Amino acid sequence: MGAQAESAVSAKWVVGNWKMHGRLQENAALLSALAEGAAANGPDGALKIAVCVPFPYLAQAQARLAGTAVAWGAQDVSAHLKGAYTGEVAAEMVAEFGAGFTLVGHSERRAYHAESDAVVAQKALRALDAGLTPIVCVGETADQRAAGQTEAVVGAQLSAVLAVLSEQQAMRIVVAYEPVWAIGTGNSASAAQAQQVHAFLRATLRGRAEVLARVPLLYGGSVNAANAAELFAAADIDGGLIGGASLKAADFLAICAVTHA
Ligand code: PEP
Repeated sequence: MGAQAESAVSAKWVVGNWKMHGRLQENAALLSALAEGAAANGPDGALKIAVCVPFPYLAQAQARLAGTAVAWGAQDVSAHLKGAYTGEVAAEMVAEFGAGFTLVGHSERRAYHAESDAVVAQKALRALDAGLTPIVCVGETADQRAAGQTEAVVGAQLSAVLAVLSEQQAMRIVVAYEPVWAIGTGNSASAAQAQQVHAFLRATLRGRAEVLARVPLLYGGSVNAANAAELFAAADIDGGLIGGASLKAADFLAICAVTHA
């Protein structure tokens, strides 16, 4: 990648997204391996590790991960505070299980649950109000990229969230750039492709307020132990959001280890 500019974000982040995978028994083994592996890796504050688990397993994550180097969170929260919203889970409920994070606006939520930019923005706000860090996911489809719309799409997705947040609130978000075409396909964006979008996202944040240049920018989409080093070396890539490779402790920990190399 050549010489890199210094990111305004000093820590690296590795966040797992389990999606709708896992059962109590296999989770127990995975969580234990992560807790032990993270301790063995000796995160020194320069690496932040978290897993976003299905709602029913928040209590299990809390029981196994409390006091370890691995934080936990959810994959979604309701846009509503409380009330007659059958099947939804409020951000405050997630926070009650010691969670520090939640994803909002994952492309699978946008695609399968018709979540608009405005709904994602409300979810980010609810998460912040509940004391969670929202990891705001943005990303273009293959068709949008082919049509040269990548920056317009991710810019609109991010701006919709920034529009409802104060500067203080915006300082507490994390943004994950996840090109839809790279998720679960084995076809990661190249480091150069990802860096280009991350630089745009950084500039968008900085355009709102200089201090927002410190918002961590994660890349997600077919990250594995083999490609993580090159991706994470890019100037504006502050870590990764990991789907498939977060389901096996060895793979996830190998990605974490890259950040120490
Ligand atoms: C994701 O869904 O957030 C993701 C990045 O998935 P994968 O790593 O499997 O591409």
